[in-house]
Amino acid sequence: MMKRYIEICKPLWTLLPEGTIHEDERLCKHTYTQMGGAADLFITPQSYEETQTVLKFAHEHRVPVTLLGNGSNVIVKDGGIRGITLSLKKLNTITCTGVELVAQTGATIIEASRRARDAELTGLEFACGIPGTVGGAFYMNAGAYGGQIADVLESVLVLTEQGEFKTLSKEEFDFDYRKSVFSAKRYIALEGTFRLQKGDMAQIQAKMDELTIARETKQPLEYPSCGSVFKRPPGMFAGKLIQDSGLQGTRIGGAEVSKKHAGFIVNVDNATATEYMSLVRHVQQTVKDKFGVELETEVITIGEDIEEPVSD
Ligand SMILES: Cc1cc2nc3c(=O)[nH]c(=O)nc-3n(C[C@H](O)[C@H](O)[C@H](O)COP(=O)(O)OP(=O)(O)OC[C@H]3O[C@@H](n4cnc5c(N)ncnc54)[C@H](O)[C@@H]3O)c2cc1C
Repeated sequence: MMKRYIEICKPLWTLLPEGTIHEDERLCKHTYTQMGGAADLFITPQSYEETQTVLKFAHEHRVPVTLLGNGSNVIVKDGGIRGITLSLKKLNTITCTGVELVAQTGATIIEASRRARDAELTGLEFACGIPGTVGGAFYMNAGAYGGQIADVLESVLVLTEQGEFKTLSKEEFDFDYRKSVFSAKRYIALEGTFRLQKGDMAQIQAKMDELTIARETKQPLEYPSCGSVFKRPPGMFAGKLIQDSGLQGTRIGGAEVSKKHAGFIVNVDNATATEYMSLVRHVQQTVKDKFGVELETEVITIGEDIEEPVSD
């Protein structure tokens, strides 16, 4: 029987304001794919200090902490998440001063790109259609259409796993393709400062419109998904390999390899995470058999499988 942490965490109720802790929260409400079981405890702090309190408590009592952004690059398994699932969505203010944009990491990166446009700052247009939070974008070094977070991020305030504040500068981010110091060291990013450039609002808007049309034309945005499921293999495109393997339209349960964009697996009919992941593995095996290429997932799988009932 998998250990649950609700009892151990009872003292947290006295340390955090009412409405911050949610017991047995269904995570399908918080993931872009609309899949996933329940979190023992889903905590939504409203300040950096409350976030620190949670982390210090968890560290002291050895309670696992899982951080969820907008859930647009994760598959939460059907058994849900044990311990604390932390959401920083209430920490979402964005301010612009001169050429700097400071965003709390619970804000969406789409909103950050719009706020940059409103302040006539160029550099974040590439992010105008990436459906994650600012924190998720740091973790993944999110990028699109030739731009990426690494190009514009200047400094980030983080909490370590032990609950200590720390400010990281550009040199410490270790950004690579869908990788960063945030993924390597499990830092919780709280707030980031972007350095942008003065631009022309009409030109910024025109660029955002162009990228939005490109996205809407190519991507199956009408269905829940987690975007591109697989990383680009060196010198190739995962979507092309999947398309050439004849996999588009293949279904397991309610999960389907998109007919519009082969790199996406969409939830067309109440798919479970188990069905979705079976289809991911089927795609990987088929592409390997056909082309000898191992597709690595870009999407991150978290949580537990459903426990089988124990028979006497
Ligand atoms: C339709 C669609 C289109 C997409 N297009 C793109 C695209 O063009 N380019 C691209 O790069 N991605 C794209 N994605 C994938 C996804 O939106 C990005 O990877 C995004 O950055 C994930 O952010 P999130 O907040 O949803 O993170 P989540 O999926 O919730 O989490 C991803 C990881 O980030 C970590 N994380 C979240 N917040 C923080 C934080 N504050 N501090 C530290 N770690 C944190 C989580 O713990 C987790 O490990 C797309 C997804 C969809 C559904």
